[in-house]
Amino acid sequence: MKTINGIPGSPGIAIGKVFLYTNHHLKAPEYPIADDEIHQEIERFEEALVKSKDDLLKLKRQAESREIKKDLEIIETHLMMLDDPIFIGKMKQSLSTELLNAERVLELTVEDMVKSLQESSDEYLKERVMDLYDVESRVMHHLLYLERPPLHDIQHKVILVANRLLPSEVLSLNKTYIKGFALDVGGRTSHTAILARSFEIPAVLGLSSLTKMVDDGDTIILDGNQGKVIIRPDHETIKEYHKNLAKWESHEKELFEIYQLPSETVDGRRIALRANLEIPEEVESALQHGAEGVGLYRSEFLFIQPGDIASEEEQYKAYARVLEGMGSEHPVTIRTIDVGGDKVFPGMEDFDEENPILGWRAVRFCLSRKDIFRVQLKAMLRASVHGKLRIMFPMISGVEELDDVLAVLHEVTEECRDEGIPFDETIAIGSMIEVPASALISDIIAKKVDFLSIGTNDLIQYTIAVDRGNEKIAYLYQPFHPGVLRLIKMIIDNGHKAGIPVGMCGEMAGDPLATVLLLGMDLDEFSMSPASLLEIKSIIRSISYNDAQELVDQVMEMDSYRQINTHVRKWMNGRFKFFKY
Ligand code: PEP
Ligand code: MG
Repeated sequence: MKTINGIPGSPGIAIGKVFLYTNHHLKAPEYPIADDEIHQEIERFEEALVKSKDDLLKLKRQAESREIKKDLEIIETHLMMLDDPIFIGKMKQSLSTELLNAERVLELTVEDMVKSLQESSDEYLKERVMDLYDVESRVMHHLLYLERPPLHDIQHKVILVANRLLPSEVLSLNKTYIKGFALDVGGRTSHTAILARSFEIPAVLGLSSLTKMVDDGDTIILDGNQGKVIIRPDHETIKEYHKNLAKWESHEKELFEIYQLPSETVDGRRIALRANLEIPEEVESALQHGAEGVGLYRSEFLFIQPGDIASEEEQYKAYARVLEGMGSEHPVTIRTIDVGGDKVFPGMEDFDEENPILGWRAVRFCLSRKDIFRVQLKAMLRASVHGKLRIMFPMISGVEELDDVLAVLHEVTEECRDEGIPFDETIAIGSMIEVPASALISDIIAKKVDFLSIGTNDLIQYTIAVDRGNEKIAYLYQPFHPGVLRLIKMIIDNGHKAGIPVGMCGEMAGDPLATVLLLGMDLDEFSMSPASLLEIKSIIRSISYNDAQELVDQVMEMDSYRQINTHVRKWMNGRFKFFKY
């Protein structure tokens, strides 16, 4: 059994057999052609274009009949690419001058076009690289008189494992048979991930070399919620995940009934439920799941594509989109870049460190790359007119660091004022509390900000000294460790003493087992992935604040996480039918 962590591409859980899909990137043969063969090569190319268009028109008709807007958009993009006079002109010119066969000329032309797309500062154009490869692959197959790989022929339920999956390949899949897909490459803004979410197919991306670690027919568990894949799981783990899966499926349906109802306890205590987002497109899903704002927008995912860092304009557009999407009533908390540690993005910086988790990350990175930091803050301030922005700083470890980031924010604010750039003067500023030292001085930090947000993913890792990504010691990663619970309670109490709200945006906020405890500890805001929102709301709506406080009193007397786990489970089992697993 081995666990591989990647990027959560699409929520949901799948347990099944691997269908390993490889070698779809065809290498073009290369051979010289004579002057009098140029005409014939151009004809072959034109024929391949026509056949490719026919394929796409067929797919278009299928998509129209199913009224799938996203499919249609992608098919239209590919049709436009096939008709693009620049592409066709370049091909014909190179065929005449290079004196090489059409396949090789196609490969060279596309390489050239990909390079200029990647160099573009326009985010939309950069994201078209995968589409271009897709179109290339389609034309190449026709030039070589090959069928496109028979993905659509899959006739039994499988989890598709591939190095990459082109958008049109996702479209061609028979979704009935695809339980999920796990890819070596890919970011969350790729069309592939967007499609997975719109088809509600669980997916994990960015798994590096998963294709080299599994064989056809291997059993894997794909956890699209947490972004991980478990290879050849043991019996116990499969059993556990089957239970999770069953729970996931039946509750999904049931939960949608409460999406418009308020998140309040039976005795009327109102709790803010917000969403964690990685890409702006997730706003829709957040709204569909009843989110009252965004508690954490992980802005670093804007920088995940190889190449240049996102420009001020690109960032502004992304932030404005999230703010507008949420509307002016609900706050949107944008966290400044949290790169480094386990989030190293290709081409951005050299993060090769002995101890990356304790190294150059988050505000540490921003304070030494103020050029990048200032651009981000300016983009945020500009976007603030589109909604109710809150700015949050990650990994604050002490007062000096907080003062330093606040000073940079102050400078950028003054700059905007001088330049006459309109921005919201009432933006709330928050600090994440995810380093034990800052938890211990959260009373001091709380006096300097407008809100606190507890990052339990890191807080647990640093408090228990257990790498959150290392499966060998995963048993030590315990949210209910009394040391962790004391720190959480201390942070909440300190925030309240300073008169500010305290939220949580670590995974613990979306863990149903922890909801009642956190509520009883007086946590004001819970922020989690959109798919978890309704389940947490249903728990909040079923209990009283008084009962929750009682549970906290009992738990805070206990010595060990085992004792606390058992006690909370028992407590929950007595009240919630879906905890009987
Ligand atoms: C956390 O640490 O809890 C958190 C929300 O931040 P991230 O998971 O991005 O480190
Ligand atoms: Mg963190």
